Amino acid sequence: MKKTGVFYHPSFSRKSYLTQGARLEDFPGAIEHILARDNVTMYESPPIEEEWILKVHTPELIRGVEADTLCSTAWHSAGGVVLAGEKVCTGEIDNAFALIGAGGHHSGRNYFGGYCCFNDVVITITYLREIHNIQRFAILDTDAHHGDGTRDLLYSDPDVLHVCFCGMDSVSNDGTKVDVAAPGGFWASRGRNEKDADDQYADKVKSEFYQRVVDFEPDLIFWYFGFDTHKGDYGSLGLSGRCYQKIARFMLQTAEEVTGGRLEVVLAGGSRTDIATNVIPPIIDILSK
Ligand SMILES: [Zn+2]
Ligand SMILES: [Zn+2]
Repeated sequence: MKKTGVFYHPSFSRKSYLTQGARLEDFPGAIEHILARDNVTMYESPPIEEEWILKVHTPELIRGVEADTLCSTAWHSAGGVVLAGEKVCTGEIDNAFALIGAGGHHSGRNYFGGYCCFNDVVITITYLREIHNIQRFAILDTDAHHGDGTRDLLYSDPDVLHVCFCGMDSVSNDGTKVDVAAPGGFWASRGRNEKDADDQYADKVKSEFYQRVVDFEPDLIFWYFGFDTHKGDYGSLGLSGRCYQKIARFMLQTAEEVTGGRLEVVLAGGSRTDIATNVIPPIIDILSK
């Protein structure tokens, strides 16, 4: 049985950059039955300190985020992602699921937007390198959109494998920065049923990520889990919770082989409360089995 940490702050249920309402308004109630287990712990996400934000972003970006009311949860969001990475790397927990109120992958050194404020994962990588001397990381990004901020910040960093499922198809010369054209979408899914869409997407994740991450030998794996790809959400590729559960099982198994189980799942895009309530609990359940 795995020791799983869930990182959460009550502000994520009241306000989110990513919703018409509050997509996490059913949390933590929706995972109460999982939190009742001895091997699952919920931690309150602390606000990230400015010192760490400044190692990744400019002072101007921080002033911009401060002035944007949609970014009010950004400090606790990034702080939870950092704390989750730290607890996984020190062995206090085996894996983590970080809930967030504001996203990170569209945030670059001096720009932000698209539901993102501070680049949570890049700040976490910076922190783990400086404080815990952990160097190599792999990121799988299955949000519907290209992770431009993360890519820009890490482009010349050979110690990070970044595999991004989006609309593009490319591999950098050193093989560490990869974009994969995601299967699915309205036209592609015409005439197919939901099961086909789920299987095609999950199979593509396995075939594009597995060998690369095995060869890369990272110390920690991040999975940017966006459910904006869900049928009916704003980046729909016609997927359902079944697809995300397949990916979660694959990521857990892959982490077991490659990093001794060290895996951090970071919530990304997706707007609907009903979808969040349906798809997130089974992922945390899989992590903690
Ligand atoms: Zn997205
Ligand atoms: Zn991409």
